[in-house]
Amino acid sequence: MSKKVTIIGSGISSLTTAIILLQKGYEVRILEQHYVAGGYLHTFKRFGVEYETGGHYQGALGDGLPFQRLLSYLGVFHEDDYIELDRDHVDVYRFEGWGFSYGTGYEKNILNLIKIFPDLEEKIKKFFDRVSESAHCFPTYYFKTEIDQKLVMKHLNISLSEVFDELEIEGRLREVLEAPCLLHGVSPKDVSFGVHSIMTDSLIVSAHGFKNGGKQLVKRFTDKIVELGGEILLRKKVTSIERDGKRIKAVTCESGESFESDLFISGIHPKLIFEMIGHENLRKSFSSRLTKIRESDPFVGAYLLLKDSVGINAKSNYYFYPKGTQSVFGVELGQKRGPFVFMSSPLRTYNGEGELPLSLHAPCQSDEFKRFEKLEKRSKDEEYLKLKEELFKPLIETIEEEFPGFKKSIVSICYSSPLTNQFYNPSPNGSAYGIYHDSTCTGVKSLGPRTHFENLYLTGQNTLFPGLLGASVSGLRTSGHIVGIKSILNQLKN
Ligand SMILES: Cc1cc2nc3c(=O)[nH]c(=O)nc-3n(C[C@H](O)[C@H](O)[C@H](O)COP(=O)(O)OP(=O)(O)OC[C@H]3O[C@@H](n4cnc5c(N)ncnc54)[C@H](O)[C@@H]3O)c2cc1C
Repeated sequence: MSKKVTIIGSGISSLTTAIILLQKGYEVRILEQHYVAGGYLHTFKRFGVEYETGGHYQGALGDGLPFQRLLSYLGVFHEDDYIELDRDHVDVYRFEGWGFSYGTGYEKNILNLIKIFPDLEEKIKKFFDRVSESAHCFPTYYFKTEIDQKLVMKHLNISLSEVFDELEIEGRLREVLEAPCLLHGVSPKDVSFGVHSIMTDSLIVSAHGFKNGGKQLVKRFTDKIVELGGEILLRKKVTSIERDGKRIKAVTCESGESFESDLFISGIHPKLIFEMIGHENLRKSFSSRLTKIRESDPFVGAYLLLKDSVGINAKSNYYFYPKGTQSVFGVELGQKRGPFVFMSSPLRTYNGEGELPLSLHAPCQSDEFKRFEKLEKRSKDEEYLKLKEELFKPLIETIEEEFPGFKKSIVSICYSSPLTNQFYNPSPNGSAYGIYHDSTCTGVKSLGPRTHFENLYLTGQNTLFPGLLGASVSGLRTSGHIVGIKSILNQLKN
């Protein structure tokens, strides 16, 4: 008789786990609190336009590359769902008075950097060689069945800052190489080089946006799950857990319904699931570790419609650091960071005609919005709206300097706060990337997938690394713990 599995939450990690387990003959049911599946892959409509929540762009989706291979293995990859970003200007970084555009391909980025820093050719080459060597040694990224454990540990046990120090990279070159840390939200001194190298490699080898929104990928996943006989139950918020010693017996939803199964997989924030179990039922050391884990800084979002593009390329992403990267990364977690804004368009197919939709994201402090938490009709509260507006005002000025006419071109604008994220995806402080993935919480030191409850597993960005690729790989890793990773990696390898 096949084993029954209940998965809590329907983010990309849960959806990945579900397909692998269904393919291996398990009976799978997903419980999702929301009225749609997909977690941060949600899209939402404003001013008649579909905006992305957390799927602005993805790496390694080109032919034969890791994310494409993983999605193809799951049976959910369709080339038509994606659009390649501008190969010469994927990520446009602007610092104080200068800038750099990352494009597609190692060679191009190395040559463009050498043009700016001709005396630093050797250091630039060494850095990118190291990124590539590191990214290629991780078995669940470039899918290998043989692991060079020593090499993996060499790259995991060193921070990005330490690599810069070893290679004597400083000044502006260091700034441009550390700027992409915003993509995982961990400062260069805290992020494991190994993990950072995967993110960097994935975006250098190829970068794509969604053609029809992240919801199209969710549909591919959910159709596949249903085709394989799985169930996705919406509006099922899990609120309590029934336990029998070291085994989970059942989970109960807000609606009062209980679900029993042989295995349970939590794809939600680990702090939430263990709160339901009760800290008194956890090992003391684990409970204390969990309590100490810090959350990454949350973001505020602005969603705009421009009447014309003012030169903004819908196939590029823009990162503005008007006071440099150190003003952002040289600050302790939770403290006020220097200004920074990420800008991208959800309409990657924009051809210059009609209105251009844009999203802006900027970091804020966890407690900045706390006083509005309990407020009813928050969206109508003037102070709440004003705070969001005020946070974006200087950032909009920064964009105006780069793209004159930007301000005048805005025809509509609305905002989100960490409380919006908290409502839709109850991560503790509404952060985008969940826990702060410093070197104590990633790689071999990451939280998941096993727990000391014999039939409870964890998956999701908090158990490995954020990003759609990171979360999906966490799903692969979790299923691997249940059904054996080698056979899956063998299939992925071939
Ligand atoms: C603003 C923003 C920008 C981002 N940009 C990018 C990007 O450009 N590229 C990229 O690759 N990544 C990006 N990310 C990160 C990426 O979206 C996430 O890392 C990834 O989607 C997380 O997936 P997950 O499976 O861990 O879980 P989530 O997507 O967090 O899903 C968890 C699910 O669990 C559900 N849930 C929670 N509690 C319960 C409960 N008690 N009962 C039932 N269900 C529950 C939630 O409703 C949700 O559906 C971004 C994220 C944000 C927020």
